[in-house]
Amino acid sequence: MARIAFIGLGNMGGPMSINLVKAGHQVRGYDIVPEKVARAVAGGVEAATSNPEAAKDANFVFTMLPTGKEVREVLVDDDEVLDVIGPDTIVVDSSTTDLAATDYIHTQAAKRAIALIDSPVSGGMAGAEAGTLTFMAGGDTAPIDRAEPVFLAMGKQVVRAGGPSAGQAVKVCNNMLLGISMVGTCEAIALGEAAGVDHQVLFDVISTSTGNCWAMNVNCPMPDMVDTAPANRGYTPGFTAKLMLKDLTLSQEAAAKTGAVTPLGEHARALYEAFCDERNGEVDFSALVQMMRDMQPG
Ligand code: NAD
Repeated sequence: MARIAFIGLGNMGGPMSINLVKAGHQVRGYDIVPEKVARAVAGGVEAATSNPEAAKDANFVFTMLPTGKEVREVLVDDDEVLDVIGPDTIVVDSSTTDLAATDYIHTQAAKRAIALIDSPVSGGMAGAEAGTLTFMAGGDTAPIDRAEPVFLAMGKQVVRAGGPSAGQAVKVCNNMLLGISMVGTCEAIALGEAAGVDHQVLFDVISTSTGNCWAMNVNCPMPDMVDTAPANRGYTPGFTAKLMLKDLTLSQEAAAKTGAVTPLGEHARALYEAFCDERNGEVDFSALVQMMRDMQPG
């Protein structure tokens, strides 16, 4: 049993922290929103009164925060969590952040001889609830090995992505491709509709042919094709368009930082930006199909 601090008890962090309790760990949590703390406490998490208080004496500190900005503030610039723990504590940032923020927290941790792992996740809220997330861990091997049983209390797989920041780098590649493939799926549906192809025919052919992808086969933007798809419940997320815009923006920041050229990633980002500005960023990202339809002439 480990003593674990969990910082950020939102849609993902709430259920993740409760899964740690279920696995027998002692978990102390904090969130700036009291209702989020109350929900975690109902699941057996102990409430802390601040981030540093949660972290003190912990064997592991997890952060699951909205963006790199909050991660920098909590670990270094404002709450100085890295200064209340010792070199025996392993810090894991599971938020999805920009590469500059990840580099910054790795550098700050190294200065203090603290092991830090950047380990974003895939699997969404359903995976967080079910304890079936995939962790993409970037950092030194020894702390990742030590953290593995803790990861597996919240997930089904730990991928060793490479050295510091490699977890965030691979996450951004995956989510850029997901955004692009959802745009392509929505575009194919709009073309099929314009050409008079029946939805069921479109789905049956594409989902079993070379165009098949997660966006069509699992998160299908057309209703009545896949039982669990958000399209069947008015595009209730799922994964919001706003979060997809965030991840596509991160991919373009990573491209700028590394000098990579990603024209389709930029195009997908611009489409999701228009969708969030002109429509509703809180719906599932497969609702982009509505904008694609409205872009068609006539
Ligand atoms: P969320 O907004 O529901 O949760 C973030 C929590 O952090 C909130 O409860 C917020 O109050 C809290 N917070 C903000 N500033 C804080 C601070 N200074 N101290 C303590 N708590 C603070 O977001 P989420 O959906 O749980 O996502 C968390 C991270 O995981 C994001 O980086 C997101 O991109 C990533 N992610 C989300 C999903 C998903 O499907 N929701 C999937 C994979 C990855």
